[in-house]
Amino acid sequence: MKLVQKLAAALVLGTCAILVGNGYLRVEREIAVLREDRQRDLRAVGRALAAAAAAVWKSEGSERAVAMLAATSREGDGVRVRWVKESAPPSDGVRVLYVPIEVDGVRSGEIELSQSLEPERRRVHTIVIDTVMTTAALLLVSGALSVLLGIWLVGRPVRALAEKARRIGQGDFSGPIALRSRDELHDLATEMNAMCERLLDAHHRAERETAARIAALEQLRHADRLMTVGKLASGIAHELGTPLNVVSARASMIAGGEVTESDARDYANVIHEAAKRMTRIIRQLLEFARQRVSQRTRSDVRAVTRDTLELLRTLAEKRQVALHLASGDDDPMASVDVAQIQQVITNLVVNAVHASASGKRVEISVSRARCTPPADHGGAESDYVRIRVCDEGHGIAADDLPRIFEPFFTTKDVGEGTGLGLSVTYGIVHDHGGFIVTESRVNEGSAFSVYLPRGELP
Ligand code: ADP
Repeated sequence: MKLVQKLAAALVLGTCAILVGNGYLRVEREIAVLREDRQRDLRAVGRALAAAAAAVWKSEGSERAVAMLAATSREGDGVRVRWVKESAPPSDGVRVLYVPIEVDGVRSGEIELSQSLEPERRRVHTIVIDTVMTTAALLLVSGALSVLLGIWLVGRPVRALAEKARRIGQGDFSGPIALRSRDELHDLATEMNAMCERLLDAHHRAERETAARIAALEQLRHADRLMTVGKLASGIAHELGTPLNVVSARASMIAGGEVTESDARDYANVIHEAAKRMTRIIRQLLEFARQRVSQRTRSDVRAVTRDTLELLRTLAEKRQVALHLASGDDDPMASVDVAQIQQVITNLVVNAVHASASGKRVEISVSRARCTPPADHGGAESDYVRIRVCDEGHGIAADDLPRIFEPFFTTKDVGEGTGLGLSVTYGIVHDHGGFIVTESRVNEGSAFSVYLPRGELP
């Protein structure tokens, strides 16, 4: 039931109780007055007739007096008059009054005045009908007024407030409500408008802060990427040095004219291959260092991993650590930002290489997995692509394990570690809707498993 209906019902019920009570009392009073009047009339007539009858009785005899009394019956008023010896019990539907006749102090019978109650009943009926009709009409008018006033004073403002509250719930803080009345609902509307302004301010502030945080995070990621490129640079310089030497030696031989035509063709092919290799390395390096917005494409995560390991091989070789990409499931496709996933793989593999003693091996595998995410990530069982980087290094101390994803947490020497790699890795994986599972045993090794959602399966 709506508020207006409830208010109208309450008002109508209250008015109804008052009007009915008032009507009942009025009817009672009018009936009592009517009866009183008629009884008083009858008594007055009786007394007058008794005096007249006694006078006639005395002067003209009893018969004349009785005849006079019979002649005074008033049929129009419904009053019958007759002389009786003594009073009799009254009959139904009639009011009877006995007035004694005394002649010279001697009781000479009684005048019986009987009055029909029918006119009285008709009058009572009319009074009741009038009262009921008046009460009904008043009720109707008060009901209509209650509904109209309820709609005007309560229904409309409450509907406007409810509409405003609904819009606030949907995140729309615009359009303040203006109520003309100066009552509690107006105060509520003013409070709601003020609340909207505060929410709008907070919303803008949160938007600005989020944008600043995202920008800072992107900066952090970019810095980490550049740092990784720096770490790779010496290895890559070596990687480029070898084909450059080949190119230079073969080119000078061709230029010196010391080679046959067919050798020159072979040398040209060697130079071409070396140039292609250098171009690829430089392109990958540039791609890695470039700052750009996240762009996800459906990619073969194994191919992305293989390309990234190519770049890291020299760094691993320098520390005499072997990188091994295990064979695994076909088609580990997922919707990823390739450069970001390269960064994730690089961070994990570089950490694994740093933790490994020379002669050890880092095992990388890419496979499909169906699993339920851990409780802190949440969500139902789903399909993922898993990249696992497993080393035989010094492992992570139990005290450090909960902190390794914190920004700037590092156990490496100053200048060697920044403590950003894993926190950036965590951010990227989280942005992709994935999660990381870490296992580690001190002096035995560590394994980092990155789960990336496969997204819409074809
Ligand atoms: P950084 O490598 O610059 O120190 P990270 O955030 O990449 O920063 O790593 C944080 C810390 O986590 C490292 O300093 C190291 O103590 C630990 N860690 C990460 N990966 C490994 C691993 N594979 N083996 C042992 N410790 C690791």
